[in-house]
Order: sequence, then C-alpha cells, then structure tokens
Amino acid sequence: MSEKPFWETIALEDMTAEQWESLCDGCGKCCLLKLEDADTLELSYTDVACRLLDLGSCRCAQYSDRSRLVPDCVTLTPEIIPNLRWMPKTCAYRLISENKPLPWWHPLVSNDPETVHQAGVSVRGRAISERRAGDLEDHIVDWPDEDVG
Ligand code: SF4
Ligand code: SF4
Repeated sequence: MSEKPFWETIALEDMTAEQWESLCDGCGKCCLLKLEDADTLELSYTDVACRLLDLGSCRCAQYSDRSRLVPDCVTLTPEIIPNLRWMPKTCAYRLISENKPLPWWHPLVSNDPETVHQAGVSVRGRAISERRAGDLEDHIVDWPDEDVG
C-alpha cells in the first residue's frame, strides 16, 4: 500500500514552512486585483495583476519582500484561509481547508511545475500588469473563479 502524501495527512497548521510553501501551485490568480461593489459588497476579479507578479512564471518577483513593497498583499495563514472569500476555487490552500483533493495538474501531484499552466489554470497569457492596465472597470473577468478539476 502506498503512503499518503503529506497534504492528506498533516493539518495545514502543523505543516513545516517548506511543506506550506510547496502547496502553492503557482497559478498567480490570488495576485489579480479585485473590485468590490460598494453597495452589494460583491467581489469581481479582474485580469489585472499586481505590479510585482512575473506574468511569465506567475510567481511574485519580490516574494520575500512583498509585504513591505505591497502593503495590501495578504500573507496566507491557516487561520485566515477559510475567511478569504476571494481565494480562487482551484487554490490548494482553499481545497485542503475544505477537505478536497489536489487536482492532477497540481505540481505536487504531477511533479511538474508546468502542468498548472498546461491545464489552463494559471494567469499565464491572460493577465496584464497594473503598471499598464488603465481603468480596472474595463478588466472585469470571470475565469479566475472557474472550477478547474
Ligand atoms: S491562488 Fe493559491 S495556489 Fe494560486 S498562486 Fe495564489 S496561493 Fe498559490
Ligand atoms: S506582492 Fe507578490 S505575492 Fe503579493 S499580490 Fe503582488 S505579486 Fe502577489
């Protein structure tokens, strides 16, 4: 019988820093800017990426310094994940906190960091940097919240 992987046996709050970081699939979707309707509080995704997101790798270009450079950047913790209603449905932290399995394209499952892009889950090829996007209202999109199993 094969041994279960760590994300199926260790609670998020008990993972090592290395295990925790490895859960990120590198989709980049949490780094897209969101708009909130002032009346309904409804959130909309845009295809506009934080200025620090590398649009090719879909990784933060200044990860260790991100909180200082982008004060709005949310540092994920096990405690806050259930309350982050804007986390994409495909996000591994959200999936695990909801007791769901990681999909085939997750790099920990496929052993290949490219599968998240090949499966069309990441922002690669469909996001624009906030440095040149212009008005956010012109960039509202649905795809970041798609459920890609
Ligand atoms: S949405 Fe989740 S899996 Fe994707 S980049 Fe953000 S933290 Fe990582
Ligand atoms: S600072 Fe980095 S991790 Fe934070 S939203 Fe921007 S690109 Fe993403």
